[in-house]
Amino acid sequence: MSGFLLPRYQTLTPYVPGEQPQDLPYIKLNTNESPYPPSPWVLEAINNKHISKLNLYPDPLAKKLREAIADEYGLSAENVFVGNGSDEVLALAFLAYADENHPVVIPEISYGFYKVYAELFRVLPINIPLNKDFLIPVEKFCHAGAMVVLANPNAPTALALTLAQVERIVSTNPGHVVLIDEAYIDFGGDSAVTLLPRYDNLLIVRTFSKSRSLAGGRLGYALASKAIIRDLERMKDSFNPYSVNSLAMAAGIAAMEDKAYFSNCVSDICMQREWTAQKLRSMGFDMTKSQTNFLFASPPGLTGREYYERLKERGILVRYLSGKVLEDYVRISIGTKEQMERLIKATEQILRETEA
Ligand code: PMP
Repeated sequence: MSGFLLPRYQTLTPYVPGEQPQDLPYIKLNTNESPYPPSPWVLEAINNKHISKLNLYPDPLAKKLREAIADEYGLSAENVFVGNGSDEVLALAFLAYADENHPVVIPEISYGFYKVYAELFRVLPINIPLNKDFLIPVEKFCHAGAMVVLANPNAPTALALTLAQVERIVSTNPGHVVLIDEAYIDFGGDSAVTLLPRYDNLLIVRTFSKSRSLAGGRLGYALASKAIIRDLERMKDSFNPYSVNSLAMAAGIAAMEDKAYFSNCVSDICMQREWTAQKLRSMGFDMTKSQTNFLFASPPGLTGREYYERLKERGILVRYLSGKVLEDYVRISIGTKEQMERLIKATEQILRETEA
């Protein structure tokens, strides 16, 4: 750290992304990426025509991409905002709606970046503990008197609220933005998109990183009332008007349009998830019923970290978690059939060694 960094940033705890090893051929089950490459339509879309235009700035309005997303959900492009990954969309939403005098209500256990943005933007986070079964205590988010930020399904717990529960939270907070982060909604649970026509305080944030196989493209989006979208545009245009590059835009349009590829990938991942969950349960793992592309699982007789280390020795990366409740758990992203078979084999060996 340099001596120039402002004192308030010297205590900042940045988000720690999952390992991205560039050398050894690990099986990567640690960052909830898709194990499948982008749609072949994406490979076709990013062609020499697009590359030869890299001398020009991209469309700051991202018109075509917003139209492609709007078409998918039966909305107008004015209900859609796009950003450089949903992380950027989340950051702009925090910046737009929360500060020292406007706190944010979040689940105590959820996506780690919410607390990081709160700290970065000097926002007071009001942390609501989860129930014992890791479910979100819905009533504590009703009449919250502040902006609400929730991941649905939640991470790392992998559990979703019902649409009626989400609606209750949105409808009891008419004076504040309720941000529902639907990064994993394509793998389970009901999207709040159907609520949009009735609630002008609802802000849905989504990503191309998981179900649309574009984590490296950095593309996220928001769906909301036209007024909220205009707010986000205002924030973006005061910070980085060209945050989505032209190649990512072309990739995003193609990924949205190839519906068959998308649904095949999602259904395959859900099938692998159920197979893996059943195998791990039969070995004594404790687990929530995942509605995402990952499992939140506690190995028998090992801490999460010990299990992570033994898997890593065998070339498999998962994510261990820290904190009192979470240290018994790991988060395992769902990979291909072959990758999950390797995980199960390695786990069988590890558990045998642990017992011996
Ligand atoms: N929200 C949640 C709940 C996530 O788990 C993630 C990815 N780790 C993100 C948002 C950010 O995704 P991205 O920036 O790749 O769109």
